[in-house]
Amino acid sequence: MRIAIFSEPAQEPRVSASVETVKRLVGLGGEVLVASGAGLGSGISDADYQGAGASIAADNAAASSGAQIVLGVRRPAAADLAGIAPGALVIAIADPHGNEAALAEVAATGASLFAMELMPRITRAQVMDVLSSQANLAGYRAVVDAAAEFGRAFPMMMTAAGTVPAARVFVMGAGVAGLQAVATARRLGAVVSATDVRPAAKEQVESLGGKFIAVEDEEFKQAETAGGYAKQMSAEYQAKQAALVASHIAKQDIVITTALIPGRPAPKLVSAEMVASMKAGSVLVDLAVERGGNVAGAVAGEVVTTANGVKIVGFLNVPGRLAATASQLYAKNLYAFVETLVDKNAKALAVKWDDELVKATLLTKSGAIVHPGFGGKVEDAGAPAAA
Ligand code: NAD
Repeated sequence: MRIAIFSEPAQEPRVSASVETVKRLVGLGGEVLVASGAGLGSGISDADYQGAGASIAADNAAASSGAQIVLGVRRPAAADLAGIAPGALVIAIADPHGNEAALAEVAATGASLFAMELMPRITRAQVMDVLSSQANLAGYRAVVDAAAEFGRAFPMMMTAAGTVPAARVFVMGAGVAGLQAVATARRLGAVVSATDVRPAAKEQVESLGGKFIAVEDEEFKQAETAGGYAKQMSAEYQAKQAALVASHIAKQDIVITTALIPGRPAPKLVSAEMVASMKAGSVLVDLAVERGGNVAGAVAGEVVTTANGVKIVGFLNVPGRLAATASQLYAKNLYAFVETLVDKNAKALAVKWDDELVKATLLTKSGAIVHPGFGGKVEDAGAPAAA
């Protein structure tokens, strides 16, 4: 059972295997081939991987030659597809939304491509939840980035030279990333408030020592889907939310936005007028910038300073800004999924095509896109696929 660990494109410092997971993949019966240099962005050398039992391949093509499993952070680039064997299992954050043409290219190789971000959020798959493992780190890093851009201190300090007030931090969107941002800002000594449209977020924010601020009307009580995600709110609700938030934001030093709605552009929560109402030196960090942004004026990949001296931080791939930790957790998520695809006694692949984890994540198989969410037909999968 040959397992390839791909090296990622230049903008992706994370890697899909750690020293620990290579050891465990070898223990599963894998012959692990790591593309040379794959771990460097996460502080893992070729020698570290060799020490864990892997061999080093010159590049992705050499690593994937004869591989039954290919592990990556991102969906393999077109240039890397030629080496992938028909029937190989390719497992990555596949980013399928709006990328059907690229999916068709992967499908044409005959490989089975799995999207880790489509993993159902059920108890059994918690250990495979890449959205949570990476969003948690992004929430932490957003606060660290905000603190670095802020020209003042976060904690209250009483010194002989005078008293420094605590920074006021407002977190918008209290899911996995937002709750970690609340916790991190509290640890740094800030006065923290947070908002969300899901009622369940209230108790979670308060249990972390944050103040919860939201329009708690009838629509708010229904805003959580059965899957635990937020619904798109009505224009009326959004107007009420904006009015509440506007007066609050003007008093904040730091605003961190994390609000997302599955399958839709990020909701616009902070208007240009709200940014203009903030004091010079205030910082906004928009973690939703890759999905269109929550903050007016946020630019993907840049730190923008507005006319009134407010910084809007729009860093891309925020989990990649702590690549070593992000890779450690991502690699563990992948390993846990691979374990379910292998017969441990026979030390061979044994994919259960009707397992709900497989059905939910499988995008391509036997030359076709099979996921019904991305134009696939159920009969193409050779087994019923999940909606
Ligand atoms: P997400 O990344 O989809 O969205 C981030 C947050 O933005 C969410 O809390 C959402 O409610 C909020 N939001 C959306 N529109 C908003 C608006 N207009 N104003 C303010 N906030 C808005 O969410 P997530 O971090 O993936 O978490 C979604 C849910 O899934 C949470 O309830 C979380 O606890 C749950 N979860 C469950 C599991 C599990 O059971 N295994 C794992 C992880 C997360």
